[in-house]
Amino acid sequence: MTEIKTTIDFDPDVLRAKYKTERDKRIRPDGNEQYIEADGIFEHFAKDNNKGELLRREPQSREVDVVVVGGGFGGLIAGASLKKAGIEDVVLIEKGADFGGTWYWNQYPGARCDVESYIYLPLLEEVDKIPTEKYASAPEIQEHACSIARRFDLDKNVCFQTEVKTLKWDTETNRWIVHTDRQDEMKARFVIMASGPLHKLKLPGISGIDRFSGHMFHTSRWDYEYTGGSPKDPLMLLGDKRVAVIGTGATAIQCVSHLGKAAKHLYVFQRTPSSVDFRGNRPTDPDWAESLEPGWHKERMENFNNLVSGVPQEVDLVDDCWTDLIGNIADMYRRGAVQPEMDLLEVLEMANFEKMESIRKRVEENIDDPEIAEALKPWYALFCKRPCFDDEYLPTFNRENVDLIDTGGLGVDEITTKGVVVAGQEYEVDCIIFATGFEVGTGYERRAGCQVVGEDGRTLTEKWDEKGVSTLHGLQTRGYPNYFMLSPSQGAFTVNFPHLLEEASTNAVHIIKHMFDNGHSVVEVEEEAEEQWVKTIIQKARAPIGAGPGSTECTPGYYNNEGHLNEKSRQGAPYGGGSIEFFNLMKDWRDSGDFKGLEFN
Ligand code: NDP
Repeated sequence: MTEIKTTIDFDPDVLRAKYKTERDKRIRPDGNEQYIEADGIFEHFAKDNNKGELLRREPQSREVDVVVVGGGFGGLIAGASLKKAGIEDVVLIEKGADFGGTWYWNQYPGARCDVESYIYLPLLEEVDKIPTEKYASAPEIQEHACSIARRFDLDKNVCFQTEVKTLKWDTETNRWIVHTDRQDEMKARFVIMASGPLHKLKLPGISGIDRFSGHMFHTSRWDYEYTGGSPKDPLMLLGDKRVAVIGTGATAIQCVSHLGKAAKHLYVFQRTPSSVDFRGNRPTDPDWAESLEPGWHKERMENFNNLVSGVPQEVDLVDDCWTDLIGNIADMYRRGAVQPEMDLLEVLEMANFEKMESIRKRVEENIDDPEIAEALKPWYALFCKRPCFDDEYLPTFNRENVDLIDTGGLGVDEITTKGVVVAGQEYEVDCIIFATGFEVGTGYERRAGCQVVGEDGRTLTEKWDEKGVSTLHGLQTRGYPNYFMLSPSQGAFTVNFPHLLEEASTNAVHIIKHMFDNGHSVVEVEEEAEEQWVKTIIQKARAPIGAGPGSTECTPGYYNNEGHLNEKSRQGAPYGGGSIEFFNLMKDWRDSGDFKGLEFN
C-alpha cells in the first residue's frame, strides 16, 4: 500500500478494520427475507390515508396509444415527452388519488427533497416554476407534479386510485391488454412502466409485530388523524403520547426532529446510524431566479451530475454537501494528503475516509452526551448507504424527552402488546412508526404490483428468475414488445433520480415516435443485443462510488441487496461505467439513427 503523507489525521488500516467489524455484525443470513409485505393482516399499512374516499367511476374499456403506469415524476416526464413528440393519446394510471408518486405517498412531517430542488424538480422551465427553497418541501414538490400534469394535459386522461393488475401482450392484435383493479380493460399499443424503484413499503419481520395493541403505521402512509397536524403544521395530538420510531434511514432523519418536538416521549430505535451532513436550506434568492437564462435547468443538472461522478467542472453551480466530496479529492492532492502517483481508487478511498471522519466529528459537535454521540457515528464508506443531510436531527437527541435506543447493529428483538424490546428491556409506547423503507431486491412484479405476461405467455418474473435481469439499456426486454421500463436496473445510477427518468423517457419516446412515423407496430429487442448488454453490465459492475478498494464490503442495506451480492443481483445493477458514460452512449445510439439491437416488424 502506498505510503500516506501525514496531513491526514486518521489511520486508514484502523478505519478499514472498524468498517469491516461493523459490517460483519449486521450481515444476516435472511437478507431481504427479514422484511414482510404489507398484505394479509398487514394490508392496512398500505392503505391510502391521504385522500379519503374511493372515487366512484365506471370501468373503462378502450383502445389507447400509450398507457403509462404511474403518475409520479417518471410517468409525468414520460407523458410530457410523448406530448412534446406529438403523441396525444396517452392514459396515465395511478394508484394514488393525485399526481406525485413518492411525493404523494411520503407526506411525513419534514419530508423534502435532499437533492437541490433547482435540479431535482423536473421540467421547471416548461412549467415556468422556480422552487421557493433550495430544498423544497413535499407539498410544494407534489404541487409541482400537478402543474406538470396540467401543463401537458395529462390530467385530462388519468385514472386515479387505480392499480394495474395485469399487462398481457396479445400477439394477434399486437396490443397490451391492461387490466386494473377497477375492472378496466384497455388495449394499448405501448406501455411505459414508471412505477418507481421505491414503490412498495416494507415492514420489519420483528417477532410480535402482529401483537402490539397500540397504534402503528409506516412513514409513507403518515397517519395525521392520529398525530394531528399536517406536513406543514406541528403534530399537536402527540403531547400525551409515547412514540417509537423504528429505523434511522433518510426518512427518519427528516421526521425525527418533528416527533421530538411533539411527542411526550420519543424512542428512536437504531440499527445502523445514517451519515448526517450539513443541510443549509434557504429561501430562493429572487435576484438569482431573475437572472436565469433559458437552458439553465439542464446545464445545472449536468453540472451536478458531472461533479458527483468525479468529472471536475469550472464552477460548482449547486455547491452543497453532495458536490463537496469531489472538491475534497482535488483538495487532497493540493494539500499533499495523497501522493500524485497514487491510484485514483485509493485517493477516492482517502477522500471518503476524510469525509466520514468529518461526519463523525459533526456528531460530536452536535450531541452533548459523549456516549450517545458514539452510538450515532456511522462506520462505513459514504455511498454505502444513502447520505443524509439535516440540521435538526442530531440536536434532537439532546432533548429530555428523546431517547436513542441503539441496538448495536442487531435491530429490535421483539414487539410485545405494550411496546418494543431491545436487549431484554421493554420500552412501553402508545404508537410505533416504521421508518423501515421500501422493497428493492425482491421480484420485479412483486414490487411493481402487477403481472407482466409476454408473447410466449411467460411472466417477466419467470423470465428473470431463470436468467437474471436481462434488458437492452435497462429499458426494454426481449419477449415483451412495445414495453418500456424507467428503471436504474441495467440503466444508470444517478444521485439525482429525475435526471435518469428524463434520459430514459427520451429514449423510449425516440423509439415510439420512430414507429409512429414509419408505420411500425411492433418493436422487439434482438436476442444477441440483449445478451451483449447483460455481459456489459456484468463486466462493468463495480463497488459503490468512492467506497474504494479496501471497503467494497459495505454495511448491509438495499444498495447491496442486504449484503448478499451474487451474480444475479449484480446483473440487476445499474451500468457500472457511470451515468455520464451511459447517457453519452444512449445519445450516440439515438443520433446514429440505426436503432441497433432492435427489430421492428
Ligand atoms: P431505508 O431503507 O433507508 O431505512 C430503513 C431503516 O430501517 C434503516 O435504518 C434500517 O436499518 C432500519 N431497520 C430495518 N429493520 C430494522 C429492525 N428490525 N430494527 C431496527 N431498525 C431496522 O428507508 P428510508 O425510508 O429511510 O429511505 C429509503 C430511501 O428513500 C432513501 O434511501 C432515499 O433514496 C429515499 N428518500 C429520499 C428522501 C429525499 O429525497 N428527501 C427522503 C427520504 C427517503 P439498517 O440500516 O441497519 O438496515
